[in-house]
Amino acid sequence: MNLETVKAVKELLSTPQNMVIIPHKNPDGDAIGSTLALWHFFKNNGQDATVIVPNDYPKFLKWMPGSDQILNFEKENHQCKDKIENATVVFTLDFNHLGRVGQLEEPLEEAAKKIPFVMIDHHQAPSDYAKIMYSDVEMSSTCQMVYNFIEAVDGVEKITSEMASCLYTGIMTDTGSFKFRSTTGETHRIVADLIDRGAENTEIHHRVFDTNTPARLKLLGVALNNMKILEQFKTAYITLSQDELDAHNYQKGDTEGFVNYGLTLEGINFAVIFIENKEEGIIKISFRSIGDFSVNEFARSHFNGGGHNNAAGGRSEKSLQETALYFESLLKDYKNQLAV
Ligand code: 5GP
Ligand code: MN
Repeated sequence: MNLETVKAVKELLSTPQNMVIIPHKNPDGDAIGSTLALWHFFKNNGQDATVIVPNDYPKFLKWMPGSDQILNFEKENHQCKDKIENATVVFTLDFNHLGRVGQLEEPLEEAAKKIPFVMIDHHQAPSDYAKIMYSDVEMSSTCQMVYNFIEAVDGVEKITSEMASCLYTGIMTDTGSFKFRSTTGETHRIVADLIDRGAENTEIHHRVFDTNTPARLKLLGVALNNMKILEQFKTAYITLSQDELDAHNYQKGDTEGFVNYGLTLEGINFAVIFIENKEEGIIKISFRSIGDFSVNEFARSHFNGGGHNNAAGGRSEKSLQETALYFESLLKDYKNQLAV
């Protein structure tokens, strides 16, 4: 965080504010962890603050301290609109443009005309709606950035055990349990400090990763069975249809991590999952890579998405089968990049 940004934030915090804190749609561990940690920090500073999520998030994150105070824009629509109308500042976390917040986009566009926005985010190509921007694509997670933010603005002593648990969770989930390339020595130093400050690391791994239902494990079986391996492109992809999800009592978050199985195959550097969502009329896509192939650029160019070099998302309005065929047809243009 540069000095100018720190100064601007300190000035903001020197007077009472009505803060609204927003993560991206379909919030993940990093999105919920970073917004809640910041929420605790502001509350402890005597500020009025509310976390508003665009839509619901997985059950395996609902144990997080402060989770019961989060408002859901889909469920508590009027209350959320009131909060945004009365806000004096909006913090947007873990996303890079307002198109990433679903139905919240319109009220936020309106608010951005009147009040300052603060962005804390590690995605590529941030847009310029925020007056105060802390954007760093080198960071493992937005949670790592919130740690830096609190350190710079008020000192690490202000990190309570609740905040430490939230931040630990987001760093853990966004780094694939500390293994992705974005994981640095600094990430580990921060994680070590969070454990010292009360993050119960063993318990957190257990709560996030060991909550399978038999139906979810069986759905994973279906996904693995559907996997198609394209050795010449070092690519593996999975499809899941709405019928397959329905047959396994699909709950939000059930397919989290499925995409990564492709990358566990020796020689595979590009893994994709296509998941049909009949309600939204789209195929939601997750892309993962190992090495230099940028899935961010791939998602941006062909699937109306984006993200990071090695983890990105996107969508398609074609059918599941057409989407998969279209995807396969694109690969020949990337053969040189994928075959290294
Ligand atoms: P996931 O595949 O886990 O949903 O997302 C992987 C990464 O890509 C995350 O950092 C997420 O924020 C980003 N991402 C996922 N879907 C989209 C999308 O539709 N558009 C953009 N710009 N980023 C996305
Ligand atoms: Mn993130």
